[in-house]
Parts: sequence; structure tokens; C-alpha cells
Amino acid sequence: RLEVRDLVRRFDGRTVVDGVSLSIESGQVTCLLGPSGCGKSTTLRMIAGVDMQDEGTIHVDGRLVCDTVFRVPPERRSIGLMFQDFALFPHLSVAENIAFGLPRGSAARDRRVDELLERVSLAGFAPKYPHELSGGEQQRVALVRALAPNPRILLMDEPFSGLDERLRDDIRDDTLALLKEEGTAVLLVTHEPHEAMRMADEIALMRAGRIVQSGAPYNIYNAPVDRAAAAFFSDIN
Ligand code: ATP
Ligand code: MG
Repeated sequence: RLEVRDLVRRFDGRTVVDGVSLSIESGQVTCLLGPSGCGKSTTLRMIAGVDMQDEGTIHVDGRLVCDTVFRVPPERRSIGLMFQDFALFPHLSVAENIAFGLPRGSAARDRRVDELLERVSLAGFAPKYPHELSGGEQQRVALVRALAPNPRILLMDEPFSGLDERLRDDIRDDTLALLKEEGTAVLLVTHEPHEAMRMADEIALMRAGRIVQSGAPYNIYNAPVDRAAAAFFSDIN
């Protein structure tokens, strides 16, 4: 369970994230949806621990991981990350990429890698290198690499944007099925309403550093908080 309270981030006197609060239960997907520049990635970076907030607190499963004076380093937050460009290590094989965050030299490690590869229909891909894989295959490897250490929370920043349009919906559905099986709490950043409608249990609509509306996709779609929110959803059917 992720709980974020009143996060604020300023750059050069400009408030970019302005009091963001949200909570996500295990097994739930929340989509942080909003236009370019509204502060989505900045919010994600603070939760991941690669940037530090000016105000506010972050809890994972009830444990404080960051306030303005205390800070648990990113690798000890039980938070997995997946970003737009996948960022697989080019000099490591598929198996080594997935095993990267796991304790060394255990049989359980090899088992987990095999199990995950099988789960995303990539059995046999273990010895291959990232440049030998298609974009969709790289996306699946990046996904299972993020899930390999069993993080309590998974943060995803536009994880499908580099992919072929025609494949995207299939990959979204497969990704969602795996996330539900693993029971991870997921915060997924997107600027595409269609993606949020398809994947989210809950949508948090963000604008100019604030969450202006949150709730079930159906409710937000049917009762947008204002004209701008309505316009944002108007191109999906
Ligand atoms: P996009 O959909 O385009 O990815 P976003 O919602 O993820 O947008 P952010 O990357 O969070 O937006 O950026 C929010 C604002 O904060 C932008 O105006 C950006 O220029 C600014 N910003 C982000 N990081 C920094 C930084 N390190 N220093 C100064 N300004 C920054
Ligand atoms: Mg961004």
C-alpha cells in the first residue's frame, strides 16, 4: 500500500507539484493522468526516491520512507520502476537484466527469472541481448525486471509510449493481467485518457501540480469536474 500526503516540489521558486495526496491499495492500479508539464514525472521521481520533496510524506505499507528530514534510499523502499525507454542494460543478457536486483547466487534467483520469462511468453529468451529483441519484447523484459524483486509498489512512467500503436492495447492487457496476478500496487503515469480508462481502477486527474479530481474511470468520464476535464476526455469513445 502506497500513501502519499501533501507532496510539494519547487524548482527555482516555481511550485511544480503543489500538494499531491494519493493512496493505492495492493493489487490496485491508479493512473496519474494529465497534460504535459503538469508534474506527473516529478511526483513519480519523489515517490521513487530519486528526487526529494520540499514538503509532504510518503509511506509504503505503513512504513515512513520519506519526509522532509528522513529519507530511505530508493533501493530500500520496495518500489519498482519502469520508464518510457525501458532502459535495459545493453551489455547484459535478458536473464542478467531480470536477475539484476535479486540476491546473487541463489537457486531461487534462477527459478524466478525462468518463471517470469515463461509468464510473459519469452521462455528461451534468457541468453539473448536487448538489441536482439523487438520493442514489445523489450517492454516485457523491462516489466518483469521491475517485478522480479517482488516490490510492494510499481511506478510506471508512460511505459507503452515507445510501442507500435497496433500492439499497444494487447500489451496493455497482458501487462495488467500480470500486475493483478502479482498483487502489486501500481501508479501509472500517462497523458492518454484512453490508456487510463483501459487500465485504471482509479484515475487521479492532474493539472498544474494538483490533483483536480480522482475516482473510478467511469465516474470521471461521466462527471468530469469542469470543462477542461471534459475536453480532456472528449476524444475517446
Ligand atoms: P510530460 O507528460 O511531458 O512528461 P510531466 O507531467 O511528467 O510532463 P514533469 O516532468 O513532472 O511533467 O515536469 C513538470 C514541470 O517541472 C515542467 O515545467 C518541468 O520543466 C519542470 N521541471 C521538472 N524537473 C525539473 C528540474 N530538475 N529543474 C527545473 N524544472 C524542472
Ligand atoms: Mg513526464
